[in-house]
Amino acid sequence: MSELAYPYEAPASQALFDRAAAVTPGGVNSPVRAFRAVGGTPRFMVSGTGPYLTDADGREYVDLVCSWGPMILGHSHPEVIAAVQDAVSRGTSFGTPGEGEVALAEEMTARVAPLEQVRLVSSGTEATMSAIRLARGFTRRTKVIKFAGCYHGHVDSLLAAAGSGVATFALPDTPGVTGAQAGDTIVLPYNDLDAVREGFRAHPGEVACVITEASPGNMGVVPPADGFNQGLKDLCTENGALYVSDEVMTGFRTSRAGWFGVDGVVPDLMTFGKVMGGGFPAAAFGGRADVMAHLAPAGPVYQAGTLSGNPVATAAGLAQLRLLDDAAYAKVDAVSKEIQGLVTGALSKEGVAHRVQTASNMFSVFFTDRPVRNYEDAKTQESFRFTAFFHSLLADGVYLPPSSFESWFVSTAHDERAVQRIADALPAAARAAAEATA
Ligand code: PLP
Repeated sequence: MSELAYPYEAPASQALFDRAAAVTPGGVNSPVRAFRAVGGTPRFMVSGTGPYLTDADGREYVDLVCSWGPMILGHSHPEVIAAVQDAVSRGTSFGTPGEGEVALAEEMTARVAPLEQVRLVSSGTEATMSAIRLARGFTRRTKVIKFAGCYHGHVDSLLAAAGSGVATFALPDTPGVTGAQAGDTIVLPYNDLDAVREGFRAHPGEVACVITEASPGNMGVVPPADGFNQGLKDLCTENGALYVSDEVMTGFRTSRAGWFGVDGVVPDLMTFGKVMGGGFPAAAFGGRADVMAHLAPAGPVYQAGTLSGNPVATAAGLAQLRLLDDAAYAKVDAVSKEIQGLVTGALSKEGVAHRVQTASNMFSVFFTDRPVRNYEDAKTQESFRFTAFFHSLLADGVYLPPSSFESWFVSTAHDERAVQRIADALPAAARAAAEATA
C-alpha cells in the first residue's frame, strides 16, 4: 500500500482503535468497520448532525454511509430526537405490550400491502432467521434457496457458499457453521432463473423458501433483472415454497413501500430493519396472515425477544417513518442522482472505467466497464482503484463505505453545501483512482 493511500493521520481514532483492539476482537463490533478492505485507521465517530459525522480528531465528513442505511433523514433529526426523548422520559423497557409497537406495526402494514401482519425483533439477522424458521414450520420442509452475494445477516444457515452445482449442497462460509446447518441451503447465482428452476427440479418437495434481497445492495448495488423477482415468486408458487423478500436494506428506503413499491412483486414473507428503527435496534418480519398465524403464541413456531418492540426504538422508528412522505423520497432520489452524476463526471474525466449501478436512491460504483449482474461479475472489478478513491475522499472529508462491495446511502439532509463538498473532493479522488496500481 503506497503512502498516498493514507494521506491523513487520525491520531485520536488510532488511539481508540488500539484501546478497542485490546478488549474487542479486531477492535470493532462489526467486521466491515475495521477498514480491512481499504486499510488505514477506522474513524471513531463522536457525533452526527444532518449529513455530517464528526470523528474523535474533530474532523467533519459528509456521510455517504448513513449508518449503512437507517439514517435516511440524516443524523440527529430534531423530530426523531424529540420522539426518543419523550419515550425515554417514560421508561426504557417494560417487557409488556405497549402502544408504540402497535402504532409502528400499523404504519408498516399501511405502507406495504403484502404485509398483513408483522412481528417486531431487534436486528435484521433476527428477522431473517425467524422468517426462515417460520417458512420451514409452515411448509414442513427443510431446504432454503439463497443467492451468492446476497447477505441476510449472520444467520448460520445463510452463511453458506455455493457448492459445485445446483444439485450439491452448500458449504459453510465460516468456521462455526456446521455442514448440517449449511447443507440445507442451496446457493445459486443471482439473476439466473434457470438455476432456480434447476434447484427446484433437483430437490422436489424439499424447498421451504427462496430468500432474496429485494434488490441486492450487499455485493454493491445489483438490481434484479426485469422479471427476475416475479419469476422467483412464480417458481415458488408452482413448487409450494414461500417467497421471502429481504427488505432490511431497501425497506422504507427505496420508496414509501420499499422495493415492493418499486416492482410490485408480492412476497409471502418480508423482512425489515434499518430505516424502520430510526437508528435504534428495531427490525421485523411479516407477510401473509395465514403464514404469520403459525407463529407463537397464535401457532406452534416459537419466536420471542426480551427487547422486541422496545418503546424507545419503536418511537424512533415511528417518528422517522411518519416524516418519510413522498416529498422526502423525491428529495433523497434527487440528491442521489446528483451525486451519481458528479461521481461519473469526475471518473469519466480521468478515463477511469466504472459503472454506477442504482436501485432507486441506493447506488454504488463498480470499477469495471462491464454490467454487474451477479456476485461473480462484482468480483471482477478493480477494487484497488476503489481503495485509492476511498482514501482520497476520506482525506477530503467525504465518508464512503469502506469496501467496494457496498451500497452508498444518502438522506434528506444532504443539502447543497454537502453536495458541493463532495463535488470539490471528487477530482482528486478520480485522479487517485486513475493512477492506482494493483
Ligand atoms: N438483510 C440485509 C439485506 C442486510 O443488508 C442486512 C444488514 O446489512 C441484514 C439482513 C442483517 O441486518 P442486521 O445487521 O441488522 O442484523
